[in-house]
Amino acid sequence: MPRNRSLCLLFGLLSSFTLGCGDPPPPLAVAHVEGQPAADGGSVAPSKASAVDEAALDKSISPCGDFYAFACGGWKQANPIPAEEAAFYRSFHGIRNRNEIVLHQLLEEFAAGKRTDEPFATELGAFYASCLDEGRIETDGLKPLEPIFTVIDAVSDKKTLTAALAQLAANGLSLPFDFSSSQDFKDTTRVIAEIDQSGLGLPDREYYFPKESGKAPVATKEKAAKERAQESPARTIADQYRAHVGKMFELTGLSAKSASSSANVVFAFERELAGASMKKEELREPEKLYHLMDKAGVESALSNLSVTEYLKAIGAGDALAFNVAQLAFIKKVNTLANGDFARWRTYLKWQVLHKLASRLPAAFVLENFKLAQILQGAKALPDRWKRCVRSTDGAMGEALGHAFVKATLGEKGKEDVQSLIAAIEHEMNISLTKLPWMDDATRSAALTKLVAIDNKVAHPEVWRPYTGIGITKGSYATNTLAANKFEFARQIMKIGKPVDRKEWLMSPPTVNAYYEPLKNEMVFPAGILQPPFYDMGRTSAGNFGSIGMVMGHELTHGFDDEGNQFDAKGNLRNWWSASVKKEFETRAACLQKQYDSYEVAKDVHVNGKLTLGENIADLGGLKLAYLAMKTQLEKEQPLVEGRSPYSPQQEFFIAFAQGWCANERDEFLRQQVATNPHSPARFRVNGPASHFKPFAEAFSCKDGDAMVPKDRCDIW
Ligand SMILES: [Zn+2]
Repeated sequence: MPRNRSLCLLFGLLSSFTLGCGDPPPPLAVAHVEGQPAADGGSVAPSKASAVDEAALDKSISPCGDFYAFACGGWKQANPIPAEEAAFYRSFHGIRNRNEIVLHQLLEEFAAGKRTDEPFATELGAFYASCLDEGRIETDGLKPLEPIFTVIDAVSDKKTLTAALAQLAANGLSLPFDFSSSQDFKDTTRVIAEIDQSGLGLPDREYYFPKESGKAPVATKEKAAKERAQESPARTIADQYRAHVGKMFELTGLSAKSASSSANVVFAFERELAGASMKKEELREPEKLYHLMDKAGVESALSNLSVTEYLKAIGAGDALAFNVAQLAFIKKVNTLANGDFARWRTYLKWQVLHKLASRLPAAFVLENFKLAQILQGAKALPDRWKRCVRSTDGAMGEALGHAFVKATLGEKGKEDVQSLIAAIEHEMNISLTKLPWMDDATRSAALTKLVAIDNKVAHPEVWRPYTGIGITKGSYATNTLAANKFEFARQIMKIGKPVDRKEWLMSPPTVNAYYEPLKNEMVFPAGILQPPFYDMGRTSAGNFGSIGMVMGHELTHGFDDEGNQFDAKGNLRNWWSASVKKEFETRAACLQKQYDSYEVAKDVHVNGKLTLGENIADLGGLKLAYLAMKTQLEKEQPLVEGRSPYSPQQEFFIAFAQGWCANERDEFLRQQVATNPHSPARFRVNGPASHFKPFAEAFSCKDGDAMVPKDRCDIW
């Protein structure tokens, strides 16, 4: 999968520094037993709990004025952001905290050798233990990186630069472009080599041009100018980044002066890469990311490197077809590769330090965390064990996931989830069949695509083997490089082979979900199939409002502004008639305009174009889930009547909104709006709810209320 093509996630915020920690968790409660037998041997009606979290509400606010504040105000008040978090979501972080406690216990047992019944328990335990062994990490210092630094130090011409880039790539440190494998966009039955832009230390190209866009990349020009004038000396994120790079070099033993000049070299080098990088909005346009070529084509594009040597060294010597996703970027790399090798040595060394900082002694970890603080605002590092659980999941996620799934989700839970997905797909089928702005040819293609969607629930059918990964009871950094090498080789080995349709791109404990357009599949890991998203013991209204909306969201990604460019087989191919496509675009533009108007902070607005696909998915998801709930209620109405002060419709919308309750730091919001295709939580609730008429009906909202826009946008 090309890293720069956005995978259609549910949620895109959980970087390694934004993971959760909070109060002691309730027990995992997925596989609830329904309809317990009564004491007299008869049976009672299934007792379904309401999904409404009363304590999370703020009843002083009208749901028609600000539904998010009504549904989440109480929770927001009672849940200040933990020091280690940049943002704290009621659902995502709450579940992740619980999952991590399960994972923690498993890994402690594996590390102590108490359990060997799970596949790769020894390697998991060894990786985790090496992360916890801070004494050894301090003693080792930078020694584990010496073999890599030696190759970088030798860079002095085309041949040695090629050798260094190949060795870095093989260690999972592909620079400055990302070399991997991907399905061919236009023939998804085959896997080809893929070259993508990469190589920046800051989150996005815009950060390198603060004069154009101000302290926060999303601030208006006026605001940026004002901020620059007020701050003396101006400390843009770019400036702070440069200082951070210098500090990291100092930690390697360079003098302050030399470190500072190295930092300038790095910044200038990355700025050139940034200038040639494709903008994030364009990365959502798959046609712009498709440039199929043969080896001769790549050789000509990267004429200042030895492509044949590079491919041979990384084990891709036999690759015949390549997608060079961003041509301008590769052209820039080629220009940079023509001389000044001292720059390359400095840049590559920095990037290695940057990418592996969390695996190094405490001084590097703390300095690295300072950058995360600048970007996202967290106040403290998470506990060591949490960082180690997360890095083990990153290194061997499917091995850890195997043990996790056994400890949490039962088969019964999985079946129930599959039936919910079927209900959502059924509603999409009805909607597509009736959609007035569609013509028959496009409708038929859309229905074909819908029927072809593959659903994956809880965990992979075939677990990925980690045989030969080479994890030992040794150095943490060395183990990380071993895991990196293993994963890189796995990606390269796919080139030229048939597509593995059973492969998962997320580990089972992950609290997230995705739609993959190239495979036309939806994936819901076990990690997310838990309260408050999902609970078998809860009302249909509650489950459809939360996990049902998530399912509808992923399904709609197959038909959003990006996903709709891929057909039933995942091929990038237009299946729309021109007039229907035009109608879709008009409807999408309505939503884009709406989100452009949402203000996150003073003068900082949501980027309607960047977030369009996610917003279409949110609105479509809410609608499909609501319709599925309605269908379900017709079957079970007597069971839910009179059980709650809320109608099922109200419960549905509150459960939906409470899935997104969050507190966020300013820095986090600014980074989110600047780089993330998902809108901030508040707008993920108020946007779709206000544009979906049944919401206003459920809460008797009137024209003129803030949650009742004059013109509603409607797509799917
Ligand atoms: Zn999404």
